[in-house]
Amino acid sequence: MLDLIIRGGTVVTPWGVGVWDVAVQGEQIAAIAEPGALKRDVGRVIDAAGMIVVPGGIEPHAHASLPLPYPGVRDQGLRAAPPDVISKACVFGGTTTVVDFANWRPGIDLRQAIEEKDRLYHGHSYADYTFHAVLIGMGTEGATPERAVPLPLEVIDQVPELIQSGFNTVKVWTTNATTKRPRQMMDFGHVAAVMERVAQAGGVLAVHAEDEDVVMYMYRRLHAEGRTGTEFLHEAHNNLSEDMSFRRVIRLAEWTRAAIYLMHVSAKEGVEAIAEGRRKGLPIYGETLHHYATFTSDVYRQPEGPLYHTYPSLKFCQDAEALWRGLVNGPLSTIATDVLFCERALKLSGRTIEDTVGGNAATEERMGITWTEGVAKRGMSLERFVAVTSANAAKILGMYPKKGAIAPGSDADVAVIDPSIRKRLSLRDLHAADHSVWEGWEIRGWPITTILRGKVIVDHGKLLGDSADGRLIGARKTPPEILQRPAC
Ligand SMILES: [Zn+2]
Repeated sequence: MLDLIIRGGTVVTPWGVGVWDVAVQGEQIAAIAEPGALKRDVGRVIDAAGMIVVPGGIEPHAHASLPLPYPGVRDQGLRAAPPDVISKACVFGGTTTVVDFANWRPGIDLRQAIEEKDRLYHGHSYADYTFHAVLIGMGTEGATPERAVPLPLEVIDQVPELIQSGFNTVKVWTTNATTKRPRQMMDFGHVAAVMERVAQAGGVLAVHAEDEDVVMYMYRRLHAEGRTGTEFLHEAHNNLSEDMSFRRVIRLAEWTRAAIYLMHVSAKEGVEAIAEGRRKGLPIYGETLHHYATFTSDVYRQPEGPLYHTYPSLKFCQDAEALWRGLVNGPLSTIATDVLFCERALKLSGRTIEDTVGGNAATEERMGITWTEGVAKRGMSLERFVAVTSANAAKILGMYPKKGAIAPGSDADVAVIDPSIRKRLSLRDLHAADHSVWEGWEIRGWPITTILRGKVIVDHGKLLGDSADGRLIGARKTPPEILQRPAC
């Protein structure tokens, strides 16, 4: 007897798209067959006629419970929303795996950083989860820049062991982002050392790349000219900064033979730098956000401008267009949210280039907006939709084909999308955040059913899952083809 059949939907598999039945046994996909061919008894049938059946999404970039480092709120001890809130938004939006960050801090090693973050998620996540380890240039106790100590060299030397233990992605920053935040930035000497170790051990280095010199000079200039409102953020976090920093990081990757994952690409210069590196055959992968691909810095001038912001900033029309082209045709590999949920009032409390609160709440909207803007409006193929919302993240982060594929033996993580839905998105359609920059957005198609390892956890707006359903994904290993050349 089979536990579940998803019947007669248009199914996107690694070998093509077709109208098939997907059979689920226990936590895994058992078979994909011609409609009606599976004659066995079935526990439950989901009629997916007219629907699109895709692998559950992977949100590769989320920050649960992060102490908010922004000057206006830093001293209040506030944190971003915890895993149960973020993961609830994920599963309502068709996403079944969330990748968060395990931050190293003074006094602990990398293994402990992973364990700390796991304690936060364990029993509190509707989605499966895993973590990038984060290394920072200067470690601080709490979120204050005072009492900073440099990253101990021993911690850099722990990277290979961490990767071999199944946590194979490490993240660094090349900027502090604003002048008053903790010293998270790592200089290029140290980044090179981390890259060498990542390359040795077969991991992938994720980078928040901005050019510290360009950004900090522009903060100084904007202050001097009294142009310090949120609406000037894109002058500091600008196209030149992305161009310079991406090229330096890519050059280092070329020297060290490291595979790199450039997070939240926001500018056409970033897309071009990635394209150039990939043309040389380098294993370089780019992530963008649906916000960056859709909005421009013009929105900062609106009364609710800060709601749209994360670091780096939104750019211009040509940048957004380049990002969509990069998603539809390459060279970008994934679409993420940079999830950091905080309440609307808090998100609107920072109004200057120093204290505008970063992070986006819109992980629930990620798959639906990518469907609407990518597939419905720009002709993105179904295979490409699956690649950028799920499969590529699974490949780069070393979870494929357990995650990111509808194939026999894969985890039965599935999103069913109804492509016929046409409406303006309302807050009532959403389930975790108290605001959405997509409110009123005209959508065409939306995820309606989400299945995690064989369990239907969301069905037509009803939450059937439990915050104890999510499980830690360890044993991640990126395959050689992803590490050696630009393979997805
Ligand atoms: Zn982030």
